[in-house]
Amino acid sequence: MDSRPHNKLHIYFLPMMAQGHLLPMVDMARLFARRGVKATLILTPVNATLVSKTINRDRELGLEITIRLISFPSAEVGLPEGIENGSSITSPEMNQKMLKVTELLQQPFENLLEEDSPDCLVAAVFFPWASEVATKRGIPRLIFHGTGAYALSVYRKLCQHKPYKNVESDSEVFVVPGLPNKITMTRRQLPDHIRDGTESHLTKLIEKVMEAEVTSYGVVINSFHELEPAYSEHYSKAIGRKVWHVGPVSLCNRDNEDKTHRGSTTSINEHECLTWLDSKEPNSVLYVCFGSLSYFSNVQLLEIAMGLENSGQEFIWVVRKEKKTKEEEDKEKWLPEGFEKRLEGKGFIIRGWAPQVLILDHEAVGGFMTHCGWNSMLEGVTAGVPLVAWPLFAEQFYNEKLVTDVLRVGVGVGAQEWCRWPEESKVYVKREDIEKAVVQLMLLEIAMGLENSGQEFKWVVRKEKKKEEENREEWLPGRLVTDILRVGIGIGAQEWCRWPEEGKIYVK
Ligand code: UDP
Repeated sequence: MDSRPHNKLHIYFLPMMAQGHLLPMVDMARLFARRGVKATLILTPVNATLVSKTINRDRELGLEITIRLISFPSAEVGLPEGIENGSSITSPEMNQKMLKVTELLQQPFENLLEEDSPDCLVAAVFFPWASEVATKRGIPRLIFHGTGAYALSVYRKLCQHKPYKNVESDSEVFVVPGLPNKITMTRRQLPDHIRDGTESHLTKLIEKVMEAEVTSYGVVINSFHELEPAYSEHYSKAIGRKVWHVGPVSLCNRDNEDKTHRGSTTSINEHECLTWLDSKEPNSVLYVCFGSLSYFSNVQLLEIAMGLENSGQEFIWVVRKEKKTKEEEDKEKWLPEGFEKRLEGKGFIIRGWAPQVLILDHEAVGGFMTHCGWNSMLEGVTAGVPLVAWPLFAEQFYNEKLVTDVLRVGVGVGAQEWCRWPEESKVYVKREDIEKAVVQLMLLEIAMGLENSGQEFKWVVRKEKKKEEENREEWLPGRLVTDILRVGIGIGAQEWCRWPEEGKIYVK
């Protein structure tokens, strides 16, 4: 007989302190609670405030889900009070301090475990000590990575075979061996710690993480089997542990209120945003957002602005800059002169935090320019929106290949260089490339919509026909069918031709 006051399974959830880990783990805890589990989230005070509205709402609905606070050791690591989340980190030094925090949380966490005696622990991968702690208490520890089985498989193969050592230059292409698909990369697209091969606090932590993977009870992944079937098997075999695909967890945010409050207070009035989207045609708006950690210099932001304007597409663009006074904004110079006035009604800028899931789910959104953070990618795919892939750092360059080469649900913007802290005066992706990728993606979306409607139509395209493009109308549906959605095969037609020659065979 169970001697506990109730016999509900009690699971502890310990997320990493960054939105890309916190939000999916909160969603996961909520999903478990809906299935009758007692869920407890262990959070530091600032992180708790980001999600407390959501949790309180679930509690009001009768779910057994709670937050237990653990203090953030700001003074011990030398971080300013209130900086407890990756989104507030602005330098490599601060990042190091944040990693140090993950070690310091062990003792206070053990104290909580002792008080509550949960039955199971789901802990983020960056707490490698969690497996040992769980073993001590005789409970299973599940790992939560924050990314998919595909990226984890690519990472393991890179570490195992080091194919980047066999190329002559940083831009020479190599194949990552031993994977279900042919994944090609260059050395420039790899994280610093892999490329340099130097030992650091981070590399030591990653070693511990990989050890903890094989000693854990198993791994829970925010993904679904059908998205990466070959990789869920591949990864599970590689670590010799069971892997559960429990996603996409963001789907637990069912109503607009849930979607609006996910992760923070949004920096806009959601009604204003929805009214704006309601006034647009289906699939006509491009949503541009690069997650919670990205940083762009003013010159790069200016390129994005120009690329978006030149594309002629309607857009919502999320810029990780809080609203400042008029004078401060004028000084920043990250927007071209008169940009907002010129694009009034056509472009909507959100400074700060956007209700991403709410926006992606709106029928007016027809494309998503993303940094390929795992959550964003998954949220885009879940909403059925094709992607413009602009990877920046972390595992995002692996994810880009999943988007463009494996799933073929988007196009790449042409990013070539892995970079966590970009140089102030360097342009990494030019306005022309941004424009080209956006036009390609959004026109494909419209073309497909028109075709599917079965209606006769007259389509006015704001796109000059350039001589060399005439025979290769890349944005027309043929490429969408064969290359992007992969719902058909090409018969091998090579020549654009409205009025075929009488004696010529075009396809044999
Ligand atoms: N997000 C959001 N609003 C924003 C920026 C991000 O809701 O303005 C959410 C997004 O929906 C996703 C998470 O924050 O769930 C970011 O995770 P991701 O893995 O995409 O990127 P990261 O921030 O870890 O680089």
